[in-house]
Amino acid sequence: MRTFKSLLTAAALIATLTSVHAADKSPTFAKADLNSVRTLRERGLADDTAWRLVESLTTEVGPRSAGSPGDAAAVAWAKREMQRLGFANIRTMAVTVPHWVRGEAQLAVLSPWPQPMPVLALGGSVGTGAEGIDADAVMVRDVAALSALPAGAVKDRIVFFTNRMERTQDGSGYGKAVAVRATGPALAGSLGALGVVIRSVSTSDDRFPHTGATRYRDDAPRIPAVAISNPDADALERQFGSGKPVRLRLYSTSRDLPAAQSANVIGEISGSDRAAEIVLLGAHLDSWDPGVGALDNGAGVAITMGALNLIQQAGLKPRRTIRVALFANEEFGTSGSRAYVAENQAEADRHVLGFEADFGAGPVWRLSSRVNPAQLPVVDEMLRALAPFKLARGGNEASGGADLDGLAKLGMPILSPDLDGTKYFDFHHTADDTLARVDPAALRQSVTAYAISAWLGAQYPGTWEKVTTPKAARR
Ligand SMILES: [Zn+2]
Repeated sequence: MRTFKSLLTAAALIATLTSVHAADKSPTFAKADLNSVRTLRERGLADDTAWRLVESLTTEVGPRSAGSPGDAAAVAWAKREMQRLGFANIRTMAVTVPHWVRGEAQLAVLSPWPQPMPVLALGGSVGTGAEGIDADAVMVRDVAALSALPAGAVKDRIVFFTNRMERTQDGSGYGKAVAVRATGPALAGSLGALGVVIRSVSTSDDRFPHTGATRYRDDAPRIPAVAISNPDADALERQFGSGKPVRLRLYSTSRDLPAAQSANVIGEISGSDRAAEIVLLGAHLDSWDPGVGALDNGAGVAITMGALNLIQQAGLKPRRTIRVALFANEEFGTSGSRAYVAENQAEADRHVLGFEADFGAGPVWRLSSRVNPAQLPVVDEMLRALAPFKLARGGNEASGGADLDGLAKLGMPILSPDLDGTKYFDFHHTADDTLARVDPAALRQSVTAYAISAWLGAQYPGTWEKVTTPKAARR
């Protein structure tokens, strides 16, 4: 018989005893399931499957905005990779998506000091027509400031929004800043403006503009809208600071094409005694077009697929079914997740727990939730099982991400291993969202934390209760 002494150093002995002690004390999870957590951790931190997935997606597919040839290629890629990894019940679900094309865009300051500035059209923006738009510009901070201007103040003008996004680890700065992009152009159009230039929703000081969806209103004229980088927005503010009139020239060939076909791609590990219950790992497969969608959202695709693969490769058989759903077109209207909920209406109740990965490559730094308050102790126990990752405990108002909105509305609980977003908005929706921005070690840690959380969620001996409180606004 082997002795502890012959096998372990003192430090390892203490660690082992502590771990066994914790496992024995768990009022919820079976000891064997907690032992599997250690297996997942050891294997996950040494596994580069997710890295190879994001490398392959960004290299072999690249940009994949809704309706584009890259979108179709991404669907084929996902199906092929799920087959290669041996997922069960692989299928696609057809989704109709809007098909907007960016075209070319240019912005020039005409006066007081003429110079061009790099721009990107906002997603969904109309073009300017071949002649472009020459107009005096009005500078405002944000949507509220625009609303407060006297009537006629922006008529026949170009509106320039100056608000700067704040850098935060949890991405909360984005939620505060994004209204300018989402609703600023519609509001400016309703007030008679001819065009909009926004300071990018960005934390970077490089010269890459950030795109992202804008939403027009049916009751207001649709006017062209573009983004400039932070340093160019600073420079444009200095032009205004001269006190002289600022005149801009805007040109864009953005346009809508007829709706196109895309698909959600789904694969899973079938459960055992509770197979009818689904633990969902969601991520969107589409990306904006200027970059190759490495952080947004090749990383999320890789985290969810990598987590499922990790559980499967460890030889674990979950009680509940663990499903990866790669959603079509999150970026320009969440078409895929809305189609998923519509198609699964009768089976929505089977989705007992949801995860989403759509916030870069990590690492995971916090565990948040949106569970029935009675089950908060279960989340605390999951956090204890994740103790080696030293995660903070987040609140119980997690959003998960935009693709969980529909199921959350129906009461599905959410677990959110929160990905560190400190640098995410330096690259988000830019030409600079490339594989170089993905840290392999952070990605491994993220995959492992997702896999462990999903595994415990699938093994939970109780019943995941519905949540009745409204879901938090999405970040
Ligand atoms: Zn995204």
